[in-house]
Amino acid sequence: MDYMDFLKIQLKNLVAIDTTNPPGNESEAVTYLASIFESEGIEYETAEPAPGRGSIVARIRGNGSARPLMLLGHLDVVTAQAEDWTHHPFSATESDGAIWGRGTIDMKGLLATWLTLMFKYKREQRVFPRDIVFAATADEEAGGHLGLAWLAKNRPDLVDCEWALNEGGGNSFTLGGKTFVTYQSGEKAGCPVKLVTRGTAGHASIPTPDNPVHKLAAALTALQRAALPEHMTDTVRAFLSEVSEGLGGSQGTAISMAVRMGQVSKAIELAVRDPFLQAGLQAMLRNTAVPTMLSASTKLNVIPGEAFAELDCRILPGQSRESLLRELEGALPGDVELVNERCGQPSESPPDSPLSTIIRDAVKVHLPEACVVPFLSPGATDARYLRPRGTLVYGFAPMLPGEKVNLAHGVDERISLRSLGFGLRVLDDVVSTAARTHQ
Ligand SMILES: [Zn+2]
Repeated sequence: MDYMDFLKIQLKNLVAIDTTNPPGNESEAVTYLASIFESEGIEYETAEPAPGRGSIVARIRGNGSARPLMLLGHLDVVTAQAEDWTHHPFSATESDGAIWGRGTIDMKGLLATWLTLMFKYKREQRVFPRDIVFAATADEEAGGHLGLAWLAKNRPDLVDCEWALNEGGGNSFTLGGKTFVTYQSGEKAGCPVKLVTRGTAGHASIPTPDNPVHKLAAALTALQRAALPEHMTDTVRAFLSEVSEGLGGSQGTAISMAVRMGQVSKAIELAVRDPFLQAGLQAMLRNTAVPTMLSASTKLNVIPGEAFAELDCRILPGQSRESLLRELEGALPGDVELVNERCGQPSESPPDSPLSTIIRDAVKVHLPEACVVPFLSPGATDARYLRPRGTLVYGFAPMLPGEKVNLAHGVDERISLRSLGFGLRVLDDVVSTAARTHQ
């Protein structure tokens, strides 16, 4: 059996099932996966908290001497406008050495890899100390409430595990000529804030001194100029120490000295020239507040009584709604009201553990030149529902350096067959080693 062929077929079949969320329609993919588990004799359970919103959890039993290892993934994808694409986003076309389609990177490629490993270990009749649990869930792209969050609340028996591997890491960046491969050990949480300014409403033929639109503009300019304070997390501390060790030489020494002096932001400015990478690393250091939506008057000739800006705010592990609001109050003029109605839960796993050692060792075999570093993701994944249960979760979907991972959620999303094969080999090592490793 060529497992790479199996993986390719599974990825194409999964991409061809349109699970755009909303509406989701994950149950069609659940039915498909159930048919494979059925024919292979792999035990599974399904759940459907709302019509069409299915999740499936399958299991290869271990000998019971260690707690389960979960291979986690979400079934839903974000929307795609077919007319913008080179190949139809649900055609799963194979072209130019890649499989094209919505979800190939985020994250049906990893899901198909998990499925292939389940299939392989079952065919090989492997019995590990740990159960290997395959969980494909609904609704991640819209917050996971009808997916993993629902399972964790209503079927905790299905998601109970000591370790889990998920999306969110495994890509790489280069710095000082070195390749760094990431695994995600922490993630921020969304905590949206609305800025409100007030003034006297009136006819726009006569300017007023307290126009709320001017106040809003002043507030947003103040926000742009202010740098919210830095907060060190375990992940970023480990990240910086690995990067400085990996770089070595004067660049490495400069970073470790700057960290010791508490000038991390400066160190990143000096060490990283690529503006995209620079911005990503700066976002790992602090809570962020990015204005995205504005509203004020609905008529040209009416000065409004209120003006609004919506801020997409993201908070670090260890931070809270209260600490974010305090920081924003410090950065903004006094006549601005801040409204926050919901706030997610950031999460972090210890960046150093037996599981991270397994990941490092596997990368060393397949990409000997690379350094492996923990990474804090600015966006949330379903890991947020497992970490509070005490599960150690890393995001690790290994791809070859240079893979266009930034096409996730974009036009012409695709994954190269070389990366898919690389991921399968690395993850086979990681999963089979982790499944037999006791803590
Ligand atoms: Zn995803």
